Amino acid sequence: MSNLSYISQNNGPWSTYLEQIDRVAPYLEHLEDYIDTLKRPKRALIVDVPIVMDDGTIQHFEGYRVQHNLSRGPGKGGIRYHPDVDLNEVMALSAWMTIKTAVLNLPFGGAKGGVRVDPRKLSPRELERLTRRYTSEISHIIGPQKDIPAPDVGTNANVMGWIMDTYSSGQGHTVTGVVTGKPVHLGGSLGRVKATGRGVFITGQQVADKIKLPLEGAKIAVQGFGNVGSEAAYLFVESGSKIVTIQDHTGTIYNPEGINLEELKVYFEKNQGVGGFAGAQAISDEDFWSVEMDILIPAALEGQITVERAEKITAKLVLEGANGPTYPDADDMLIKRGVTIVPDVICNAGGVTVSYFEWVQDMASYFWSEDEINQRLDKLMIQAINDVWHTASEKACSLRTAAFILGCERILKARMERGIFPG
Ligand code: NAD
Repeated sequence: MSNLSYISQNNGPWSTYLEQIDRVAPYLEHLEDYIDTLKRPKRALIVDVPIVMDDGTIQHFEGYRVQHNLSRGPGKGGIRYHPDVDLNEVMALSAWMTIKTAVLNLPFGGAKGGVRVDPRKLSPRELERLTRRYTSEISHIIGPQKDIPAPDVGTNANVMGWIMDTYSSGQGHTVTGVVTGKPVHLGGSLGRVKATGRGVFITGQQVADKIKLPLEGAKIAVQGFGNVGSEAAYLFVESGSKIVTIQDHTGTIYNPEGINLEELKVYFEKNQGVGGFAGAQAISDEDFWSVEMDILIPAALEGQITVERAEKITAKLVLEGANGPTYPDADDMLIKRGVTIVPDVICNAGGVTVSYFEWVQDMASYFWSEDEINQRLDKLMIQAINDVWHTASEKACSLRTAAFILGCERILKARMERGIFPG
């Protein structure tokens, strides 16, 4: 339960995060004086984003940037454009970034931003105006050494390009390192677009091997067919797995023989969703959870796997492409049923890892090849998932708790070694 006066809702993603911290606390007794640091954001900014719409009217949108923890370096985390964005969600997402950058041992803290808007309802010009005004409202707390945004749900490389341009105008010179996930010709990194999906695949491959689940012929269910879900799906299909069901905001499609992703790609480009695809049958959104599957990849939004759904899921392995998709009681239910969960803070860390590479390349103005990026990404992800696996075996705990032990230990040691100002 939150003890912050500005968070009254006690069942949102922030509560899920707090419960995860309570579960790891007994393993961190040597740092217990500092645990409370993780239960509150360092800084939370709420901004009004007024824009002139194409029809001449003025509309106001609510924007946020939360810096959860900066003990290990500048804030890092995406920007979400979605109608359900609120402070509770952005705080939780920023906190998961703190844990994630620490699990991967990247020299960053955790942050996240968002605007409460449905970007699909804006014209391209309105989207640009919204992005530029939001950037200008948060510009005093972001920067290459302060806090570096990136894409998340509803934002993409073009949005990052506008952020970079708006911030640079205010500084009087081009500052490529203020944001990652930019277009490649604006200082973006090769391999960034595919990095999160690739990380889901790499960690999934490692853990599937450990639990002796062959990827050849494995049946996979994917929720969310955006940046993360689609890239992960392509890589699993290349390894001989079958994608038997996909759900997105336009519907749920099912084909027990395996959905043809090349045909789906053509359909998706025209229709901006999977609903109505002729190469599979439509099923209800709730039936998605009980499809016969070996691997489940939630890659849409948080709070998707409830206890009721966890009881139906037939997967042996859950790969959390999305942030915070599983409620703590559903986590317990899945584990009790023998399901292995690769938690978000390691599973979807491929994006922030290549974002780190992008930031380093921007600082050096020297760019690496895609092969080099992928090799470095695979090496860091394999090392991190093996460390998490080893800690889970040693402490006899879940992979989530193990990842939190590794991450929180690094964050709290940094907090302790820096000391509390003014002492
Ligand atoms: P995206 O905007 O590219 O795709 C989001 C997908 O979710 C879309 O397919 C959309 O249709 C689907 N979706 C939205 N609402 C839904 C609903 N109610 N039911 C079913 N599907 C729904 O976003 P993304 O970048 O792929 O992000 C997906 C998840 O991965 C988010 O939780 C995000 O925080 C996380 N993530 C993204 C990155 C990244 O690099 N993009 C990195 C780490 C984690």
